[in-house]
Amino acid sequence: MVTWASVVPDIDGLGIVADWLTRNSSHPLNWWGGYHHILAHNLCFALIVAVVAAILAKQKAKTTLLVLLSFHLHLAADLVGARGPDGEQWPIPYLLPFMNVVQLTWSGQWALNAWPNFVVTAVLIGIALILARKRGFSPVEMFSSKVDAIFVRALRTRFPLKNAT
Ligand SMILES: [Zn+2]
Repeated sequence: MVTWASVVPDIDGLGIVADWLTRNSSHPLNWWGGYHHILAHNLCFALIVAVVAAILAKQKAKTTLLVLLSFHLHLAADLVGARGPDGEQWPIPYLLPFMNVVQLTWSGQWALNAWPNFVVTAVLIGIALILARKRGFSPVEMFSSKVDAIFVRALRTRFPLKNAT
């Protein structure tokens, strides 16, 4: 749930599929442009996600706090390094739907495809692989426990644990 909460804000970007499917129709949609960084990148959506986590989690307080933290880490990462190719900063209307006056941006924001994002991504994937090999589970677990077990077994076969015989 914590991991899902860190990616769920971008659910408001799924309109890009509808936009693409209707691009040659007489009524092309603009859901991506109209709703991305609007519907799910705000405090209200964070609270909805937190409530869902609180209902579903076994360790309710700990999970809910970590869900809120990971959700806001996503927003912070968007502010820091998600400038569009056209220079669009994608301001975050953090207090929607209550208020539209707060539009979070950062003047030092770098582009989504800038080198810091590649470095951070590579380092985090490396850490995830090291932890998966060591602990016996990986983020693949979010999709399938069986596939995760196969993935970890492949990792441990390629990079055996030192105490394994
Ligand atoms: Zn986002």
